[in-house]
Amino acid sequence: MFYINEGFLDLHNSYLFATVSKKIEEFQKSHPDKKVIKLGIGDVTRPLAPVVIEAMHKAVDDLSRTETFKGYGPESGYNFLKEKIAEYDYKGLGITKEEIFLSDGAKSDCGNMCDLFGENLKIAIMDPVYPSYLDANVEAGRGGKFNEETGKYEKVIYMPISSENNFVPELPKEIPDVIYLCFPNNPTGTVLNKGQLKKFVDYARENKALILFDAAYEAFIQDEDIPHSIYEIEGAKEVAVEFRSFSKSAGFTGVRMASCTVPKEVCGYTRSGEKVHLNPLWDSRIAAKFNGPSYISQKGAEAVYTEEGQKQIQENLKYYRENAKIIVEGLKEAGFTVEGGQNSPYVWFKIPAGMTSWEFFDELLEKANVAGTPGSGFGPSGEGYFRLTSFGTRENTIEAMRRIKETKF
Ligand SMILES: *Cc1c(COP(=O)(O)O)cnc(C)c1O
Repeated sequence: MFYINEGFLDLHNSYLFATVSKKIEEFQKSHPDKKVIKLGIGDVTRPLAPVVIEAMHKAVDDLSRTETFKGYGPESGYNFLKEKIAEYDYKGLGITKEEIFLSDGAKSDCGNMCDLFGENLKIAIMDPVYPSYLDANVEAGRGGKFNEETGKYEKVIYMPISSENNFVPELPKEIPDVIYLCFPNNPTGTVLNKGQLKKFVDYARENKALILFDAAYEAFIQDEDIPHSIYEIEGAKEVAVEFRSFSKSAGFTGVRMASCTVPKEVCGYTRSGEKVHLNPLWDSRIAAKFNGPSYISQKGAEAVYTEEGQKQIQENLKYYRENAKIIVEGLKEAGFTVEGGQNSPYVWFKIPAGMTSWEFFDELLEKANVAGTPGSGFGPSGEGYFRLTSFGTRENTIEAMRRIKETKF
């Protein structure tokens, strides 16, 4: 008999973005004259850098001629790109190309990393959180039952972040085997400094836990004392895997290109306590299940590391940063308490007391015709908060803030 993986039945889908879209659509239908501004979605809108486009055109031409045609490439990606990542993204951190694996997305890598997990591992996630880490683990049976009352899965360790702890997660009391960290954070836009991150590295070393560090938004960091990579922290190479993506930094959400760093030092353990290096395991996992990212995507990503490429992607990042600043200032003027926006494309703010995040969503849509994302959609500790993104157009961002400032909530 074909027995299914019952982890899938445990999944309590919040249908966050589907619900958001449906509500916007319904509102638009009943108010066809209103122009709704959407600042909810975490997707870029600026076109790709011209050097990237050029490199991808050239890559297509390579595929058109017998002499330059490319079939299957190396499963974990071409060295030409791995070398650039090691040289530029990990400058001075001693990461080599053998420790870098290329893929079609950080979301895939975060989920696929679960293949390396032993049975009954305990995972710790931040709350609120990027939903993918949690869902992938629930599907693998590590979530347990969803408790409607608490909004939590029974087997998962939650690390709440809110104004109560200044958006710095505390070290979990119950010791996890795997810790997911995402900084700059989605959805809150908050960051950790080196000292705060070091506590997690030390904790993971003491407890033989693995840290999965999602650095998808590192390109948005502006403050000099904020680490771009977990490997800036002493000892992190022994306990941390890092995810990077070209999605938000260079606008590759539709192209697909990411990298995953598994240092040669990082280890797991067998049930009998023997140390096992993860780098060769991850290499095997990729060889078994993946044939590498597209040659065209890899060529496009390589162009990001040219002088011109760096300049061009910075122009887009600057555009989003300026939007974030407009949102932060607008919300503050409107009387809200605001987080993020400085080192992140996300702005997270406290909604008026006595309202739920969904109630605020409805009011904002009705009164200001602006759509965002309710904080509770990212986890129970997101209740009472709301997320706006800087990925809209300048014009819409300014107009949305004008409307919010005029609205009485
Ligand atoms: C957008 C995003 C990513 C990027 O995922 P890709 O699959 O590379 O597009 C990763 N992590 C977080 C938290 C994100 O918000």
